[in-house]
Amino acid sequence: MFAERMNRARSAMADQGLDAVLLSVGADLPYFTGYEAMPLERLTMLVLPRQGEATLVIPALEAPRVVERSGVFKVKPWGETEDPIAIVADLLGSSSNAAIGDHTWSRFTVDLLAARPGLTFRRASEITSPIRAVKTADEIQRLRTAAEAVDRIAARLQAGEISLVGETEAAVSAELGRQIIDEGHHRVNFAIVAAGENAASPHHEAGERVIGEDEVVLCDFGGTWIGDDGIGYCSDITRCVWTGAANVEFTELYEVLFTAQAAQVDIAKAGAIPQDVDRIGRSIITEAGYGEYFVHRTGHGIGVEAHEDPYIVEGNTVPLVTGNAFSIEPGIYIPGKWGARLEDIVVAGSDAPDRLNRVDHHLAVHG
Ligand code: ZN
Ligand code: ZN
Repeated sequence: MFAERMNRARSAMADQGLDAVLLSVGADLPYFTGYEAMPLERLTMLVLPRQGEATLVIPALEAPRVVERSGVFKVKPWGETEDPIAIVADLLGSSSNAAIGDHTWSRFTVDLLAARPGLTFRRASEITSPIRAVKTADEIQRLRTAAEAVDRIAARLQAGEISLVGETEAAVSAELGRQIIDEGHHRVNFAIVAAGENAASPHHEAGERVIGEDEVVLCDFGGTWIGDDGIGYCSDITRCVWTGAANVEFTELYEVLFTAQAAQVDIAKAGAIPQDVDRIGRSIITEAGYGEYFVHRTGHGIGVEAHEDPYIVEGNTVPLVTGNAFSIEPGIYIPGKWGARLEDIVVAGSDAPDRLNRVDHHLAVHG
């Protein structure tokens, strides 16, 4: 798997006339090697030349954590008194350009520029993102496993099995986090719980506000599910619950959202233009009079990172291809009053969208 991924990177490097790719902290390194760099002041960096073997330059004290993969990369541990920048500069050989991981710390990039003046840098995502954006059947299965786990939590939320009224947002968020781990994830990435007027803030941080009767509770949560090979894939879902008796005005708003999201998912297959997916939902929301309250893009790609390519947004005219995995998550946010969002992870199939989250899409009402 890793050798295959590196070969794809090499072929993209050849296409783009790139001599080397340098990967440090961030999701690219584990995707290509199975090893995740510690975010330390000591440099860990994979040097992947277009030709020849890749080398993982790593602090000697971290080397025991590396699972060596012969034929994929060799390991070059460096001691406390050595200069890892000089080692990387040397491994770059006669390269005249290199792509460096987007999340690499500036201190290392600055030092490399000084060690190899004249070397041109580009972002590694130009090489890695298009590869990561197209999921294999194995990756889709991992995303599905993670999605099914958060679906089970959402089902309990909708069934009233997770206590809301009388609890603080923070307590519900902590409970969602516990369930994310209990259901098999290894990491909680976020657990937004936003009640009432707080639901109008798309990325509200759960706080001490106590959830009352007759209000919306927006829950957006997800984690990372790590496989036996050390690679993690993310889940991400949003569902809303209304505490109390059904509220006509809010139900109307939610129905608009439900219709918009369903229309977006329906067309999200291979060949669809992301901008069109965004527009079809936005036009439904706008026609219902809520256009100004849909304040963000429709969705983001998902995989080893919670947010990655492709983005489902106005301006993205690159057609979806089979294996793209992304969220469809329109929202309507009325400042000071309430808000709603409905989010699924969807994989573009050749003939139809494959919705990974299948738990009920209607507003759960606990009357
Ligand atoms: Zn989300
Ligand atoms: Zn999302």
